Amino acid sequence: MLKSIAVMTSGGDSPGMNACARAVVRTALYEGVEVWGINNGYHGLLDEDMFKMERKDVGDIIQRGGTFLGTARCKRWEKPEGRMQGYKNLVDRGIQGLVVIGGDGSLRGASLLSKETGIPIVGLPGTIDNDVWGSDYTIGCDTAANTIIDAINKLRDTASAHRRCIVLEVMGHRCGWLAMTAGIAGGAEYILVPEEEYDLDAICADMAKAYKAGKRYILVVVAEGAGSGQEIGKYIAEHTNIDTRVSVLGHIQRGGSPTVIDRVKASQLGEQAALAIISGLSDIVFGFNKGHVVSINLHDAVNNKKTLDPEYAHLARVLF
Ligand code: ATP
Repeated sequence: MLKSIAVMTSGGDSPGMNACARAVVRTALYEGVEVWGINNGYHGLLDEDMFKMERKDVGDIIQRGGTFLGTARCKRWEKPEGRMQGYKNLVDRGIQGLVVIGGDGSLRGASLLSKETGIPIVGLPGTIDNDVWGSDYTIGCDTAANTIIDAINKLRDTASAHRRCIVLEVMGHRCGWLAMTAGIAGGAEYILVPEEEYDLDAICADMAKAYKAGKRYILVVVAEGAGSGQEIGKYIAEHTNIDTRVSVLGHIQRGGSPTVIDRVKASQLGEQAALAIISGLSDIVFGFNKGHVVSINLHDAVNNKKTLDPEYAHLARVLF
């Protein structure tokens, strides 16, 4: 049994990180284990910016987006010397295990720390991208998808009024989950994702035909990794004569009060992570598979690339 653990959030923030950290802290305290909060991700670990937490430190945060611990991207962590310093800062305080809530980069950093020092590490997938291998869910993806749906609903109104084509660029450099899920839920005509090739000329020809037949509007959702929304919009306007507008959603997708799904799932993952690390388990990531909490090997999670669910891709084609 470990007697003292720490928790941090790292990488891009995501709605539900607070609910998750809260669950880690309260589970540890419930089990009689000391718990430290590390501010600003790996930066805080290197700068010794950490504090012993009490129950009240995680009060009034479950409903908030962002992360009360702060988060950062930290270059120093990418070097072995940096990670050794972080390890020393943990050991100096008697901290025996670390829970890292973050995206694939943060989990990669955690995986290296565990390999190099042997300190117990449990990772939790905190990113809106839903791109962590082995889990069909990451903390914050549901809130982000709902934010996109809200934008789609509004854009659809104005597109329909003016008979326009709207190109909506959403987040997702290497993973099209957000675009695909929100596109399906929002009834988009075309969904462009980094995992699939597309033929813009064929799409333009299709669009022109549909407009001739009386279609009032067209909605294209494009993940940023599949191309620039601005350039795709320009190409469509030039090749179809359809009045086209582009909207780039940007960081609005990261913020906002987490949905019920993100709060509950983040809490479940946080509880499991705390229980696992307290009992001495290491090198695992907790995620979800078909609605159930599952544990995934940490090194497998960071060394494999998640692929797009073929059923989603098929559904998008059928419903178009
Ligand atoms: P998101 O998916 O939301 O962008 P992320 O966790 O993937 O979140 P990154 O910027 O990739 O965000 O990683 C966060 C931090 O994790 C980095 O700033 C760095 O400190 C650490 N990290 C990332 N990749 C590595 C690596 N290969 N080796 C060591 N540390 C890493």
